[in-house]
Amino acid sequence: MDFEFSEEQKMFRDAFRDFVEKEISPLVEEYEKKEKFPKQILKKMAALGYLGVDYPEEYGGAGLGKVGGCISIEEIARVAVGISAGIIIGTENSIMSIYNHGSDHLKQKYMVPSLKGEKLGAFGLTEPDAGSDAANIQTTAVLKGDHYVLNGTKMFITNAPVAEFVLVAASTDKSKGPRGISLFVLDTDTPGYTCRSLEKVCFRSSETGELSFEDCKVPLENLVGEEGKGFRYIVEALAGGRVIHAARSVGLAVGAFEASLKYSQERVQFGQPIYKNQAIAFKLARMATNIEAARLMAYKAAWLMDQGNDAVKEASMAKLFASEVAVEVANEAMQIHGGYAFTMDSPVQRFFRDSRLFTVTEGTSEIQQLVISRELGLR
Ligand SMILES: Cc1cc2nc3c(=O)[nH]c(=O)nc-3n(C[C@H](O)[C@H](O)[C@H](O)COP(=O)(O)OP(=O)(O)OC[C@H]3O[C@@H](n4cnc5c(N)ncnc54)[C@H](O)[C@@H]3O)c2cc1C
Repeated sequence: MDFEFSEEQKMFRDAFRDFVEKEISPLVEEYEKKEKFPKQILKKMAALGYLGVDYPEEYGGAGLGKVGGCISIEEIARVAVGISAGIIIGTENSIMSIYNHGSDHLKQKYMVPSLKGEKLGAFGLTEPDAGSDAANIQTTAVLKGDHYVLNGTKMFITNAPVAEFVLVAASTDKSKGPRGISLFVLDTDTPGYTCRSLEKVCFRSSETGELSFEDCKVPLENLVGEEGKGFRYIVEALAGGRVIHAARSVGLAVGAFEASLKYSQERVQFGQPIYKNQAIAFKLARMATNIEAARLMAYKAAWLMDQGNDAVKEASMAKLFASEVAVEVANEAMQIHGGYAFTMDSPVQRFFRDSRLFTVTEGTSEIQQLVISRELGLR
């Protein structure tokens, strides 16, 4: 593996970092307070080719592969983790299976407008009684003539309160368990669809909801791929999502580290900047080392995917390690900032709150360890 970004990747990263500083960073505090997702940013990003950079150009992406996708998400998460959540769900989880298995009609109707910033998607898998055990979903889709009828409830669905469509996992044949799960694209203006917004302790500039489907009619052509293959499609897309999640964890950790480094050079106690104490310098040294290791793991998994490998083990390892590094780095950042960390004006309290979610979403740390053990032949 080449450990250097190519010239094209470096140019993209530098230009995008500049965009994030100028256009996204100023939105963070306002939207965190309002608990709203700044949807308007999507069109700006799309106009400059910054949305869904990992997809081919023919669908509106930038053709920069998973490594490019990770670069963009790392840069956003460095300053705006909450906003990154809405963007990731809108450009990865809600359209990846449409890209991989959907008809051209679905690609043109949902994926292409998503990458233009004209439509925002959500991804509805989790239910009140089916989280880690995702194959146990209870939402049903029954075929009736030229449409399916959906009934059920989805929990913790990012973007749902502001989405135009939801990629919904539903059972078309309960007797077949995971092999009876199918994927559908549901327009959020469909009669019978309702969404209740959830207030959160973190990711407050992304919006999350509980969904309810009561006899929602979904046209036949909104079935993604084949009936009964939905769970396979989700599992296949999950590895890519986990790599993106790892890059996002790296981005948050970098943000928390940079703030801590700066603070340690400015804060004077006992007549000297606090970094002059080995206890603080060693903390920063360990934070930087762990970030570097997490970054290498994330980009190696992304690179493997760009070479055509499924990289299931590497994606789960990167997600497990990077999310735990983010939690640890954000925690140490709080310690380095002392009492000032605990005011809502402090930059690190948000990193601290946001990081805590990383070991839960996109498969908890425990579930990543199950996946890795299976890949090691232990299960
Ligand atoms: C803010 C937010 C946004 C989210 N966005 C989305 C979204 O857009 N779309 C979506 O579909 N979902 C979304 N989720 C759901 C998320 O993916 C789930 O919360 C996650 O998969 C865990 O499921 P759970 O919360 O039901 O926890 P549970 O599965 O109930 O787990 C509880 C605890 O038990 C442990 N555990 C469970 N089973 C095992 C086992 N076999 N071995 C060892 N330990 C185990 C878990 O690791 C965890 O520590 C979101 C969640 C949050 C909080």
